[in-house]
Amino acid sequence: MKQDRRQFIHHSLAGLAALSIYPAAIGGRRSVDRTDFESKPWLEISEAAYLHNATQVSKMAGGKPVLAVLKNNAYGIGDIEVAKILDQSTSISGIAVVKDERALAMREAGVSKPILLMGDFDLELSDALVEHGISLSIYAKSSLEKIERMAASAAKPVKVAFYLDTGLGRMGIPHREAVELAVKTAALENVTITQTFSTLTTPRDFAQEQIRRFEEITRELERRNIPVGIKHLAPSYSFLDLPASRQDAVRPGILLHGSFPLAKMPVAAEYPLQIPFKLKAPVIRLEKLPAGSTIGFSRFYKVEEDEWIATLPIGWADGYDSGAERGAKVLIGDRLYTVVNVNASHANISLGKSTGVKVRDVATLIGPDRPEITPEGFGQLVDGHNYLQINYKESISKRVYESF
Ligand SMILES: *Cc1c(COP(=O)(O)O)cnc(C)c1O
Repeated sequence: MKQDRRQFIHHSLAGLAALSIYPAAIGGRRSVDRTDFESKPWLEISEAAYLHNATQVSKMAGGKPVLAVLKNNAYGIGDIEVAKILDQSTSISGIAVVKDERALAMREAGVSKPILLMGDFDLELSDALVEHGISLSIYAKSSLEKIERMAASAAKPVKVAFYLDTGLGRMGIPHREAVELAVKTAALENVTITQTFSTLTTPRDFAQEQIRRFEEITRELERRNIPVGIKHLAPSYSFLDLPASRQDAVRPGILLHGSFPLAKMPVAAEYPLQIPFKLKAPVIRLEKLPAGSTIGFSRFYKVEEDEWIATLPIGWADGYDSGAERGAKVLIGDRLYTVVNVNASHANISLGKSTGVKVRDVATLIGPDRPEITPEGFGQLVDGHNYLQINYKESISKRVYESF
């Protein structure tokens, strides 16, 4: 679809501080693309593609509700922007995050679906978290003590989730202590148990053992009439690999962003996903470098014959993978060009003998437009992993479109 026919919904600078600096830019609908004036990289986000992915992911999970994991700023794409979109999807039953202030920021942005906090929280935020109905995880004895104190003074019931460690060894109540801690939690006044969850490891044998441990605990709690709420266990890989892990809901992150946890999974052909974002940056410098020149600190790239080199104002400090200099491509107009150097704040691309590119032309570094620049295509070109491509810094501004 052509750029000018797209509905440009809003242009937001990431981070709450930006709200007060650019109030006019938030929320309003614009029909003008400001690309021409841009001197920094930005992310474009497609509402339609995220909604499509949510529906597809639910289908992949046999119609189970989808709890969208939007931790780590939605893997760098923009947790508030993505949460606002997924809030509209009937396939999405809730949102899970790891940082307390991100859960609150989602509520401030108007997100109304249930939110689960899978990490700890600051006591100063506890009133706001309860007020906004965020489910707080009990993942250790210390968190139960914290919840107990809060519940004693909270104006309304404190929503809690049992976070069980069935073998990942990272977070959660160790499975052997789970029943005891759950019994204590259920005995608290002014507490509502919304869900019980754990996370699976990837090796299938052990994941099966984890499912067994989880079901043993939840069955025992149900036997004792202790509410367990909604049960969930499975990140993207697990629920694709092991249908028994689906429980009452699935809990994917990466699939919603249009990538599969592993390249070439057979399910990808059956339920195609869309890459719902584009990482873009304008060309800010164009130089014809004579043969013998080198580019970058390490002088890694050597110009063999006179060659046009473009500079983009994006580098590894923005979250663009420095491995791109091992042969990644970017799209300018309808041509792909090779990345030859990535520093902290700049990347260089080779245009060869071409002079068709101008300063201010826009490069798409990651996006759905060509197989080479999708996260998976990028990964294949530089021999990296899908995940690495979605770690963009919060400082990158976001523009949300109805569709691409
Ligand atoms: C990150 C995470 C997920 C989502 O993982 P994906 O591989 O992106 O689907 C689910 N659950 C927990 C606890 C996580 O930390």
